[in-house]
Amino acid sequence: MTTENTILLDMFPWAARPVIILALLIASVAGAVAVHFLLWALFKRFFGERYPVLHDIILRTRAISRFAFIMVAFSMAVSVAPFRPRVANGTLHRGKRRTAPTSDRKRMIRLPTPDLDRTAMFLDIDGTLLDIALTPDSVCVPKELVHDLALLRERCGGALALVSGRTLEDIDRLFAPLRLPAAGAHGTQVRPDPDEPIGHLTRPIPAELRAKFTALADRPGMFIEDKEVTLALHYRLLEDPTLPAARVAEVEAAAAQTGFSLLHGKKVLELKPAGTDKGSALRAFMAKPPFSGRVPLFAGDDVTDGYAFAVLESLGGIGISVGRTFPGAAYQVAGPAELRQWLHVLLEPSVGEQKELGTAAFVYRP
Ligand SMILES: [Mg+2]
Repeated sequence: MTTENTILLDMFPWAARPVIILALLIASVAGAVAVHFLLWALFKRFFGERYPVLHDIILRTRAISRFAFIMVAFSMAVSVAPFRPRVANGTLHRGKRRTAPTSDRKRMIRLPTPDLDRTAMFLDIDGTLLDIALTPDSVCVPKELVHDLALLRERCGGALALVSGRTLEDIDRLFAPLRLPAAGAHGTQVRPDPDEPIGHLTRPIPAELRAKFTALADRPGMFIEDKEVTLALHYRLLEDPTLPAARVAEVEAAAAQTGFSLLHGKKVLELKPAGTDKGSALRAFMAKPPFSGRVPLFAGDDVTDGYAFAVLESLGGIGISVGRTFPGAAYQVAGPAELRQWLHVLLEPSVGEQKELGTAAFVYRP
């Protein structure tokens, strides 16, 4: 497996290429001969009599220069031709582009096509299923997604779980009336059966540590989200969204002394019990039916999902990263909208090895 995501995105089918190349060759020859003839006529008209020796040399080498003109014209035509394959990476649309915008084209896209009867599906929420919003409460949950998740869970024999930094209460509220197996607060809460009650906090955050962590939110635009089992410091709204490294290190040291740890996410810093993360949650799920014995599939977008991707590798699972590359994630999608689209497509009865999905930007890493 390579570390670079690659896929060849082709505008035209292979069968059409000989025709396009032939057309380019004919156009190049015609254009080059015309330009060559024009330049020769101009030289003869204005300089032919003044420089007879040069005129004689050009006349004798006219066939060679015409051939050179044709080759240059053909090379230029091929270099700007729209059938040139492009190598895409996680940021599919970045870099040189000599072709039409991606949204204007249809592409053949290779997708993971898991056998849902044998798959245990684990999905992160923010930045993976849902577009990230300025605050955790302002995210939008599409109704179609709730519907698709309910159907997917059925198709997976119940083995579909949400794995998030949010609490289970928050997850249930977001996707209501749907209740799914879920892991909340970065693996601090694990609920394989959605009909089970949500577990209660067993390790409260020490008051002194709580105060130190809370004190980090000392600028307008920063706020603390108290999830009881964990604390999250959000700083997305800051003009300069950075944290003072020295003070964070101080809190980190205090956390380590009391069995807690800090987790750096996307413009959020979380204080949580040490030893629990999304990777440990994934292992806990895989040890119990209906998840056990299946191939785990995990989709995530953030540094905090790296723990799950690492566990996934050891279990031989399928990883899908959203919007960025991750070690352990063989597939990548551009954003939550593309992931939702892919989930929807999985529900179609005729999903094949390759699926034409219009403008979606999936990247496959063989
Ligand atoms: Mg996320």
